[in-house]
Amino acid sequence: MQRNLKALSDGRFDLLIIGGGINGVAAAWDASLRGLQTALIDKSDFGSETSAASLKIVHGGLRYLQHLDFVRMRESIRERSTMLRIAPHLVEPLPFLVATSGHFMKGPEAMAAAVIMNEIISCDRNRYITDPARRLPAGRVFLSPRRCRELVPGLERHGLNGGVIFYDAQMYSAERLTLAFALSAAEQGALLANYVEATGLIREGSRVVGARVRDRLQGDEFEIRADVVANMTGPWSDIVVSLLSDDDPDRTVLRSKGIQMVGPPLTRGVAVAVPGRQKDPEAVLSRGARHYFITPWRGVSLIGTTDTVYRGDPDDFRITEKDIEDFIGDINASCGGFGLRREDITFAFGGLRPITETNLEKGSTAARKYEITDHRRDLKIAGLISVVGVKYTTCRFLAERVVDLVFDQLGRRSPAVATARTRLVGGEIDDWEKFVAQVTAAAPQGVGAESARHVAHMYGSQFGRIFELAGGDAEAARLVPGSREVLMAEILHAVREETAVHLDDVVMRRTDLGSQGYPGREALETCADLMARELGWDAARREEEIERTERIFHFPES
Ligand SMILES: Cc1cc2nc3c(=O)[nH]c(=O)nc-3n(C[C@H](O)[C@H](O)[C@H](O)COP(=O)(O)OP(=O)(O)OC[C@H]3O[C@@H](n4cnc5c(N)ncnc54)[C@H](O)[C@@H]3O)c2cc1C
Repeated sequence: MQRNLKALSDGRFDLLIIGGGINGVAAAWDASLRGLQTALIDKSDFGSETSAASLKIVHGGLRYLQHLDFVRMRESIRERSTMLRIAPHLVEPLPFLVATSGHFMKGPEAMAAAVIMNEIISCDRNRYITDPARRLPAGRVFLSPRRCRELVPGLERHGLNGGVIFYDAQMYSAERLTLAFALSAAEQGALLANYVEATGLIREGSRVVGARVRDRLQGDEFEIRADVVANMTGPWSDIVVSLLSDDDPDRTVLRSKGIQMVGPPLTRGVAVAVPGRQKDPEAVLSRGARHYFITPWRGVSLIGTTDTVYRGDPDDFRITEKDIEDFIGDINASCGGFGLRREDITFAFGGLRPITETNLEKGSTAARKYEITDHRRDLKIAGLISVVGVKYTTCRFLAERVVDLVFDQLGRRSPAVATARTRLVGGEIDDWEKFVAQVTAAAPQGVGAESARHVAHMYGSQFGRIFELAGGDAEAARLVPGSREVLMAEILHAVREETAVHLDDVVMRRTDLGSQGYPGREALETCADLMARELGWDAARREEEIERTERIFHFPES
């Protein structure tokens, strides 16, 4: 994938997508697979905003049982299976413990019914998944309280009388999964560029015919012409719509702030839900508190997620020390057994969820359902579609709906949709365990088994690209200082093939050096040195890049 701005400004596209979060890149992949000339821009890096904030759960939507929303539950189950099929290197099964106490709604009776209903509703969850390592087992009814405490030693629940296990799925890396969609779109001919911001929408009469944009690296401004523009900017979508008028947009409409923390391993291989203090206003069967999830992820726990009102400019979103302290306080108040302290938390990350009119009317904070707006209907403007997605898991399906509407706006008949049965770049794997053995055997000299497994996850069937670099250069086969898995070859590959232009692109999204906390000064300097050689940075730029990356790990007091 190359960042080709000349081709963007010279081209005439069927579709321009503004926003390269998971929903935008999934739409770019679908559109290009269906033969549309497609362009995509993002003002930051691909997947660097809400899509990097996710708790990494590929949800089958068990929660919707509580809301009796079987349609959304089926949609989530279907899309979870699709993710396990098209990206088997990046999505894997995740067991979930639900503890029970007392009787009836929170007790074993209700949970037994939920397990049975889930089995019935998800009976086809493994259809077309042949890899044993990616098939989701049936839920398990009734673990003893003792077994529950073995799995989650800090579990404190008044009247705990057992638990059940459900299976969901988890992303190995949300950032690489977003990138896999982007790379797949590029492979189909889409042109994608990070760090290009839409600053205006070009109108001809009552039709949008493209966008004015600014390259945030060099400062150049130019136009991108397209018959349809899809505004897929998530929490920024209202701001992008307001580019239609000359007035300054109101950048302070309500949004919901969600954060997660990275902490010590609090469970033994299972995810668990603990009730927080906020009520769930949408629940039909139980108006209990919203739950926090504690999920085991690559040797640590991910603890999430909060949902509080945010009134500022989305560009100013920051996590503060106070957010972290409050969150720790709430977790300890609902489950003191974990005894979390600030020094246990190695990192916090988060993002904003859009709040739609419909949800505000229901008294809820974050939007619960995606919204696709055809602006022919509300603004009488053709050529512009706005999309607000609410779930990473269902991005493929949302993209399908958006691209259907693009064909409608173009007045063209769409070919069949292929995204549910086409593997993403890197996803050509039929048996995960055999594949890992094959990657380990192919590892060049000096690359250990832990790195080889990591490469298998991050690059899937494209692992050879990394090993080629590592095989030809002893420096590239070395580990980044302080990392047990990340190879220097990955930095080279990120810059040469994956449009990484800032140090934090490499540290946070192409590799995951920073996903569990500060990787250390030496790691940053080593990566910056390599990037400086590849990209011609001078000493000042190198220092700027290190400072910019270090800021990600510092949280202001309030
Ligand atoms: C805390 C939290 C936890 C979550 N956990 C989960 C989970 O476990 N599982 C799950 O399925 N879902 C989860 N979600 C939901 C999911 O992460 C989001 O629904 C999804 O990532 C939204 O993706 P998006 O592409 O719509 O938005 P984004 O990822 O925010 O992408 C929008 C992009 O638009 C770009 N942009 C904005 N303005 C412009 C402009 N003018 N020009 C160019 N580009 C622009 C931004 O830079 C950004 O990259 C979670 C959400 C949050 C907040």
